[in-house]
Amino acid sequence: MVSGSDQHGTPITVTAEQEGRPPKEVAEFYHKSFLESWQKLGISYDLFTKTETENHKQVTHDIFLTLLNKGYIRKEVMQSPYCEHCHRYLPDRYVEGKCPYCGTPGARGDQCDVCGKPLNSIELLEPHCRFCGHTPEIRDTEHFFLDLGAFEARLRAWVDRQAHWRPNVRAFTLNLLNSGLRSRPITRDIDWGISVPLPGFESKRIYVWFEAVIGYLSASIEWAQRQGQPEKWREWWQQKAKTYYFIAKDNIPFHTVIWPAMLMGYGDYNLPYDVPANEFLNLEGRKISKSRRWGVWIPDYLSRYEPDPLRYYLAANAPETSDSDFTWREFFRRNNDELVATYGNLVHRVLTFTYRNFDRQVPVPVDLEDVDKAMLDRARATLTVVDGLLAGCQFKAALREIMGLAQEANRYLDARAPWKRIKADRPAAATSLFVALQVINVLKLLFYPFLPFSSQRLQGYLGYDKPIGPGDWQWSELPVGQALREPAPLFQKLDETLAEEEVARLGR
Ligand SMILES: [Zn+2]
Ligand SMILES: [Zn+2]
Repeated sequence: MVSGSDQHGTPITVTAEQEGRPPKEVAEFYHKSFLESWQKLGISYDLFTKTETENHKQVTHDIFLTLLNKGYIRKEVMQSPYCEHCHRYLPDRYVEGKCPYCGTPGARGDQCDVCGKPLNSIELLEPHCRFCGHTPEIRDTEHFFLDLGAFEARLRAWVDRQAHWRPNVRAFTLNLLNSGLRSRPITRDIDWGISVPLPGFESKRIYVWFEAVIGYLSASIEWAQRQGQPEKWREWWQQKAKTYYFIAKDNIPFHTVIWPAMLMGYGDYNLPYDVPANEFLNLEGRKISKSRRWGVWIPDYLSRYEPDPLRYYLAANAPETSDSDFTWREFFRRNNDELVATYGNLVHRVLTFTYRNFDRQVPVPVDLEDVDKAMLDRARATLTVVDGLLAGCQFKAALREIMGLAQEANRYLDARAPWKRIKADRPAAATSLFVALQVINVLKLLFYPFLPFSSQRLQGYLGYDKPIGPGDWQWSELPVGQALREPAPLFQKLDETLAEEEVARLGR
C-alpha cells in the first residue's frame, strides 16, 4: 500500500504565488499536514512518499528516455497560451475558459470538471489568464508528446477484458477510447517540476500528469530500498500481482488510459487490475470547495469527534457508483442508530454481563443447540462473504453484511435472554454468552478495516495482549477461560441537535 503527495501540481504553484512562498515550502507543508491527518484517522500506508525525491526523478527520467528511444515520445511544435501581461507561458490550470465540449464556463486548461473530458488549454473558448484576467496570445513552442494513439488498439483489447471493473469506470474509459486518442504534450514551459533529461530543454519541465502517475512505481521502488531488499518491488510490477488504484472519478483517464499506455510502452509492467474510482461526495447538497470553505477539515473534525464514526459514515455512504451526499444530520443518526445502538450496545451488554457474572472470563459452554450453531455458522459465513466483497472493492456492501451480523447477534441474544435465564439455568446462559462472544470476536475483525480504533480497544477488552495485526484475518475462536478486561462503551451517543451547529460552520 503505497501513495504520496503530488508535489508538482498546479494547486501548489498557484498557492505559492498567492502566498509569495517557494513551491517547495508549500508542498512540504501540505505533505506533512496530509501525513498527520492520515495518522490521526488511522489510515496507514507501507509508504506515503512524495514526488519531490531524487528516486522519483530518476525513475521518471528512465521512463521518459525509454519511451523516447522506442519512438512513443516525439518532439513537436505546439501552440501554447502566453500572457503578455505576466510575461510567461501559462500552464494548463493557469488558463480558464468555456469547455469546448459541454460549454461550461470556468473549465480549467487541463480538464473540464463537469463533463470530465481532458483538455488542451488552447481548446478553451474565451480563455483568460487566471492571475491577471487578460486574454493570452497563442505562441509556438517546442515540446515532447506522448503518442497515445499507438496504444489505442491494445488498450481497447485490455479494457474489454476488465469485466470486473465498476461499470461507470469501464464505460467512461471505453467512451474515451471510442472518441480516439491523440498525442498529448508531456512537457511545459514552467520552472517547478521534474527536469527534462535532454540538453536544450533546461527551461522546461516534465508535466505533472505524465509524472505523478509514475509515483506508484517510484514509491514501490523506494519502499523496497527502505526494506533493504532493493529488488522486491519487482514482485508487484513484473511478477504475478493484482494492483488496485483508489482514486476519484476525475482521475479515471490518467489511470485507465494514460498510465496503462505508459506501462505498456515502458516494458510490459503489470497493468492496473482494478481502478475502483469513486464518484463525487457532496456536502449538504453542494459541491465541496476549498476556496468557498464548503468542507469539513480533518483537524477541526478531530477536535470535536472520534475518527471511527467519520470513517464509518464515509465508507457506508461512499459514492461508489453514483454521487452521494454527506449531511451532518445523517452522520449523527448513523453514529447513534448503527454504531451506538446496534454494534456498540451488543458489545457492551455482552461484555459487562459476562465480566460481572462469570468471573471476568470467557464462560464454558455446554452442548450447543441448533440455534447456537446457526449463529456461529452465520458469523463464519459472514467472514467469507466480506472477504470476497473487500477483494471486489465493494466496501458499502461489506459494511452492510457486517452490520447485518451485528443485528442478527442482537436478535439471538434477545431470544436467548441470558440475563433472565442465568438464575434458573446458569449453564444455558453461559452458552449463549460464549456464542455471542465468538460473534463479537469476529465482528471486531470484520470492522477492523473500517473502525480500527474501536476494534483495537475491543481486542483489549476481549483479553488479548497483542494488537490486531497482519495474519489475523481469519476465523479464530476466543478461548474458554480467557480473562476479559473491564469494558467501556465503544462509541458515544452524539447530540443530534448539534447537526445545525455543524451546518452553520460551513462556508465561513
Ligand atoms: Zn466540459
Ligand atoms: Zn496574466
